[in-house]
Amino acid sequence: MQDILDDLERLCEDVDGYLEDDSDEGNSSEDSCDSEEDSSEEEGVLVWEADSSVSFKDSEKGRTLVEVPRSHIAFEDVQAQFECQWQHTPMPPTIHKVYRVTCSKQHIARFDRYRAEVGRRIGYADGNVIRCWHGTARACRVGDDSSRLTPCSRSDCSLCNVMKWSYDLSWSGKRRSWGRFGSGIYTSSTSSKAYDYVQERGGSRYSALLLNEVVAGNPLCLTDNCSSLKRPPSGYDSVQGVPGTDLNYDECVVYTDAAIRPVYLVLFR
Ligand SMILES: [Zn+2]
Repeated sequence: MQDILDDLERLCEDVDGYLEDDSDEGNSSEDSCDSEEDSSEEEGVLVWEADSSVSFKDSEKGRTLVEVPRSHIAFEDVQAQFECQWQHTPMPPTIHKVYRVTCSKQHIARFDRYRAEVGRRIGYADGNVIRCWHGTARACRVGDDSSRLTPCSRSDCSLCNVMKWSYDLSWSGKRRSWGRFGSGIYTSSTSSKAYDYVQERGGSRYSALLLNEVVAGNPLCLTDNCSSLKRPPSGYDSVQGVPGTDLNYDECVVYTDAAIRPVYLVLFR
């Protein structure tokens, strides 16, 4: 599993680097299996290679969304995580599209710095990054099909705002009251739990979830509510809500914008 994650991370960095014309990342792992990415010499053409060669054109650099071909190992990996972690109904919904999300360069740099800082402190190189789901409001139909790749600019479209700028605690707090573990950014490893927070306001027939990288660092596991938290308890970097007394499904809460970034947008029905 770690090999796949390492490979995905490398792939994502390759894609980010290609799209942003920025090759300053150096966190590559050893060789990959079958997901080597090869950028064509032709301007604006990105080639993904999986089981069979799959290619698509991307004429815009710095795009927020890049579709992941269904045959690519990254699609299969996201799909497996989505389906395995769907607990609310016997059968998970069917995935329609998966997109790689690249939010603002500034946020990615901030996330990387935070991850490295936490990693040094806890002696775990990647800062104990985990992938968790987040559901929110979508006021448009971004991602519904391959031609809808531009996030909208509506202020009430939380999904697009997150995809462009990543998470913003100050903004989140204005939208709703804080949750059971205080004023943090809430995610879950349970895809169906995150789905509870999805609000489709744009008339789409699909639902959208974000899969995120979350720097869990040294997490404090809690079974009881602690809604007064404004930051992680001393000595910890995040709170993991463990199902039990007050909670039916897990939650992971971080208390700084730098600790999370969206990496995939998943459309399903
Ligand atoms: Zn939108």
